[in-house]
Amino acid sequence: MAYSYDDENIFAKILRGEIPNDTVFETEHSLAFNDIRPQAPIHVLVIPRGKYVNYDDFAANASDEEILDYTRAIAKVCEMKGVEAEGFRMISNAGHNGVQEVPHLHVHILGGRNLGRMLT
Ligand code: 5GP
Repeated sequence: MAYSYDDENIFAKILRGEIPNDTVFETEHSLAFNDIRPQAPIHVLVIPRGKYVNYDDFAANASDEEILDYTRAIAKVCEMKGVEAEGFRMISNAGHNGVQEVPHLHVHILGGRNLGRMLT
């Protein structure tokens, strides 16, 4: 069963300023911040400010402006962190089988080491 949006999820609280975050980059529609439990030397989470539970929800319901902003925010973080030369991984976990912990769309950007063939 697909997850539904919960206004009390941790990223909603971060967006409302109720919980601090280590911001890397922000735009009108997107926020990027360091993961609290980094799995690699570079581990940034990029989220849209809108209430979208996962990528499907975002692609179906976000405006073209939000989608463009979010896509470019992800690319900007990769550029800022300089991960493109050595390579990196972008991943977005969804739902139960994807072991999604937080029901607000987020893309993980991982880099700074060889990540192996699978994310653990
Ligand atoms: P998911 O499993 O949903 O794809 O990943 C959620 C991510 O959010 C995890 O990597 C976890 O470490 C991170 N996370 C959970 N709570 C917080 C928090 O309060 N602050 C930050 N910066 N990251 C968090």
